[in-house]
Amino acid sequence: MRKITYVIGLFVAFGLLAQDKTAMKYAKTITADDLKAHLSILASDEYEGRETGKKGQKMAAKYIAKHFESLGFEAPVDGSYFQKFDLTEAQIGSVYFRKGDDKKIGFEDFVYYSSSETSGEEYIKAVIADEEKSEDYTGKYVVYTAEKLGGLQAKAEKAKEAGAVGVIITLEDDQEFESFITRYSPYLKRPSLRMEGRDNESTKLIIGDKAMAEWMFDKTYDEISAGDESQVIFNADYLDRPVGTENVLGFLKGTEKPDEVLVITSHYDHVGIINGEIHNGADDDGSGTVTVLEIAEAFSTAAAKNKGPKRSILFMTVTGEEKGLLGSKYYTDTDPIFPLENTVANLNIDMVGRVDDAHAENSDYIYLIGSDKLSQELHNLSEEMNKTYTNLELDYTYNDENDPNQFYKRSDHYNFAKNNVPIIFYFNGTHEDYHKPTDTVDKIDFETMEKRARLVFHTGWELANRAERIKVDKIKEEKVSGD
Ligand SMILES: [Zn+2]
Repeated sequence: MRKITYVIGLFVAFGLLAQDKTAMKYAKTITADDLKAHLSILASDEYEGRETGKKGQKMAAKYIAKHFESLGFEAPVDGSYFQKFDLTEAQIGSVYFRKGDDKKIGFEDFVYYSSSETSGEEYIKAVIADEEKSEDYTGKYVVYTAEKLGGLQAKAEKAKEAGAVGVIITLEDDQEFESFITRYSPYLKRPSLRMEGRDNESTKLIIGDKAMAEWMFDKTYDEISAGDESQVIFNADYLDRPVGTENVLGFLKGTEKPDEVLVITSHYDHVGIINGEIHNGADDDGSGTVTVLEIAEAFSTAAAKNKGPKRSILFMTVTGEEKGLLGSKYYTDTDPIFPLENTVANLNIDMVGRVDDAHAENSDYIYLIGSDKLSQELHNLSEEMNKTYTNLELDYTYNDENDPNQFYKRSDHYNFAKNNVPIIFYFNGTHEDYHKPTDTVDKIDFETMEKRARLVFHTGWELANRAERIKVDKIKEEKVSGD
């Protein structure tokens, strides 16, 4: 026993020091200049911030597909580089209460906060909640009069459990109501993209003011009391339209184990134009996207010299990340082109072009998130590759499960991880330009990005070429979060 351990120990130590000259040769094809050339195009104003479903996103998709084609990659989606799917763009339509000719208008007199709609004008029964008693509110809209907004969620939950279809909160503090409606209305009225169909069973949440309660119950505010009922007409509708979008996939077939697939991802979408300002998303996630393009080129150059990876590699730049990880979710949950059980690992690169304040003194760092969550072997391999080739400071600050940012759940790798595919998320941390029009190419540190890209390349090279596929050895029960 002991002897074997000793021999293996020696072997590992030797492996640590030995550099794979072939891998190093192709890592060198990843250069700051190439990264800059790609990013200067994808994050230019012409691409209009690459918002999902918009012109700029389509332009970026074409650019990436053209690159994959030039590398000679297989187009794995029935001969196409595009995995196309429809999302639904929902925009709030007409929302109002009506009594005869008298109306209270949504986003002027109250805020409507729900994704469900009525089937045209409906008579609704509103009842003032009796918080002393536990009542049956089946089919009714429960009205809570509240001094402030706090505890709103809990009230809505309680009413829903008691059968309510709607919850109406009327705020006693006019100033608080004014600031609430001014702040949230523009946001709630903006169109939003979603994957699933409309859930008309979800509770309709309405926030109004004292005047609305008085109007609804035909009483002064002081006269209103628990159990009071009123019947009014309510209308809430959404204007839904399909929006087509696409993930872009390039496939390099493995030479020995083609059925085992490593997936390298980034999201190429960003948030587009907001208030007339282009959000270029150079770091988020133009940086990850051009890193994928360069790593892809390195592997394809190797393949052209008969040094192609033993396992297959899928290079996938996804859409819809900023709308809720929708592109990666479509791939993993609806149409995995390659079976997830054959997916060896996912390396996800999201924001790798900047240096955050915590590392102002030493830019040679990268945050790694998730590397040890499902596979200790993946974590060890990643550490080893860094020690052998890149020597970056690997910062695990955000890998802490108690970190309030919860980055582990905030980019595309999460859709793989939830399916027990081991992942590593490469991330430079946040900065003052995050999701602002100022996230531009001139602020990118391409020398640092080159080192980070080479780390991902070496890790991918090892994952694709080592004798045995890495093992999933750490499946954990998902903690139930109480919010
Ligand atoms: Zn983002």
